[in-house]
Amino acid sequence: GMVKADKKVDSVCPYCGIGCQLTYHVKDDKILMVTGRDGPANEERLCVKGRFGFDYARHPQRLTKPLIRRADAPKHKDFVVDPSNPLAAFREASWEEALALASGKLREIRDSKGPNALAGFGSAKGSNEEAYLFQKLVRTGFGTNNVDHCTRLCHASSVAALLEAVGSGAVSNPVRDVLHSEVIFLIGSNPLVNHPVGATWMKNAVKNGAKLIVCDPRRNDLQRYATHFLQFKPDTDVAMLNAMMHTIIEEGLVDEAFVNDRTSGFEELKKNVADFSPEKMAKICGIPAQTLREVARMFATSKASMILWGMGVSQHVHGTDNARCLISLVMMTGQIGRRGTGLHPLRGQNNVQGASDAGLIPMVFPDYQAVGNRTIRQKFEELWGTTLDPNPGLTVVEIMDAIHDGKLHGCYIMGENPAMSDPDVDHARDALAKLDWLVVQDIFLTETAYFADVVLPASAFPEKDGTFTNTDRQVQLGRAAINPPGDARQDLWIIQEMARGLGLDWNYSGPKDVFNEMRKAMHSIAGITWERLQAEHSVTYPCENEGDPGDEVVFIDKFPTPNGRAKLVPAKLITANEKPDTEFPMVLITGRQLEHWHTGSMTRRASVLDNIEPIATVTINPADMAALKVKAGDVITVESRRGKIALYARVDPNVPVGAVFIPFAYYEAAANMLTNPALDPFGKIPEFKYCAVRLKKG
Ligand code: SF4
Repeated sequence: GMVKADKKVDSVCPYCGIGCQLTYHVKDDKILMVTGRDGPANEERLCVKGRFGFDYARHPQRLTKPLIRRADAPKHKDFVVDPSNPLAAFREASWEEALALASGKLREIRDSKGPNALAGFGSAKGSNEEAYLFQKLVRTGFGTNNVDHCTRLCHASSVAALLEAVGSGAVSNPVRDVLHSEVIFLIGSNPLVNHPVGATWMKNAVKNGAKLIVCDPRRNDLQRYATHFLQFKPDTDVAMLNAMMHTIIEEGLVDEAFVNDRTSGFEELKKNVADFSPEKMAKICGIPAQTLREVARMFATSKASMILWGMGVSQHVHGTDNARCLISLVMMTGQIGRRGTGLHPLRGQNNVQGASDAGLIPMVFPDYQAVGNRTIRQKFEELWGTTLDPNPGLTVVEIMDAIHDGKLHGCYIMGENPAMSDPDVDHARDALAKLDWLVVQDIFLTETAYFADVVLPASAFPEKDGTFTNTDRQVQLGRAAINPPGDARQDLWIIQEMARGLGLDWNYSGPKDVFNEMRKAMHSIAGITWERLQAEHSVTYPCENEGDPGDEVVFIDKFPTPNGRAKLVPAKLITANEKPDTEFPMVLITGRQLEHWHTGSMTRRASVLDNIEPIATVTINPADMAALKVKAGDVITVESRRGKIALYARVDPNVPVGAVFIPFAYYEAAANMLTNPALDPFGKIPEFKYCAVRLKKG
């Protein structure tokens, strides 16, 4: 019969940024099942990841002892792990020995080569408290601002554009606001796969009469619910969006009052888009002029239009420009500051919003306060009782370059997997292998941990308490349901022990203690108490004073910029860094699948998820399959200027002709062996959504 749980623990989903609330059903320190809870983002709904993706926590490959690299174990970028003995390069050690060695070597590098010879990667998978303590350790213990995380790889360009325009990088309205929209404009996002419960609200909105416009080079199934599907050519977002703005101006649909009262820079924007008539842009973006005009009118004239976007917009060398166009579109039509309107960059990871807010960013302290600003820096120097580096630190990709240049020698990586997630991953692996000293804190021996000198076994999501901030700015409590296995420890404890090893006198008693310090550093959450989180499970920020309800809709009467106005920034056409040519004639688009999340370290060890989607595939348009004379299931080698991988061909008419799609979750065929590390100059985000490849059968 059914085994009955002896304990139920309320928590949140460890996967995407929707932040579904759930309940763990536990017996004998083991999760039996997960059910949905009535959270503000999910109303009891869960997708397959939230529902079935939990048994990774009890996977036999969990790290249960600190590991120290054997003196004779080589570090090399092509290092291959022996599957029968994956830990062969390491020996087990006590916590005392591992911590003393891990922090001692970092201290030695700091003292001999200077603070900027060190860097730290935190993680959007960890809690807000972990993120905050980690960046504090890097800034005060290492003495550098070289601290970053995977936000750099997902919405850095969106955040750069939003900070420039409206003074805040977070969303203006929650996803569920689509229920109040008349027009939903979805671009560069496949929420059925990446934010499945978020997609259900869009479907519900359409059922209630909302009009959905989907824009994407790759068709997705939400297109079936859309009045318009614009399958524009990859790389031509700015052409398409500027043409829409051109139409709105030409046809007198600008919200003049809003533009006059609430924005600056409209005249320059107007001058810029004058050149982008839909008739002229149709050829470039592949969408008929009439369609461009039609959707522009719909967007401008509806009572409430809302834009939601994903990595398809952000992961380009012109990602910041793409986001600037979306912002301008909303501003010139006054579609912001009310229910069902606004700007929503859909966050990919459960806590990428919170980790960014908490300061895992090299140029800003917690709450996006610039490290270069003297007044701000003095405030943090007072709070943290130390002097701080006034110079912005290096970003994820720049840190890898600095290692190659011999400027950076030691790294502390908590929960991130750059050996899988960085663009041109061979280059990143080579950098990791070159480091004098690498400390990795994780729950598995990830591809990144292969290169570590010391590996510290950490706690999995259902093993700890902490707060997590979802894409809707809702701060929610995750609660420990089971215990970490063996000698694995709480991440907060590990960070604190590392800090002590670096000479910091830290005595945090737990997540609540850290959260209370964060409230002093961050206006946005200053009014949120731990007790309220325990009672209500979820509180939306901004919540500056105790008792504030928390604002679901922001920018109602002004923007948090110095003059209160939104700044409109024109965008010109910039093309991808690497265009297809005769040698590499096709375009590679990378992304995710429904069952596998990011680098796969968790979902590929979740038995149900890995059974549903067990092998690495490249999806190809049937026309290209015919031209290449391959059929579904054939092994295909995909090669770029940076590397090659072999995977199985899968037919997919949703992929445009001339392009292929590969998910980046498979270590055995790592998509990022192929991707281009070229960066957007503003957001410093790599161009994961576009590079040139060639395909070969076999
Ligand atoms: Fe988890 Fe996102 Fe699925 Fe919700 S939609 S269950 S948060 S992965």
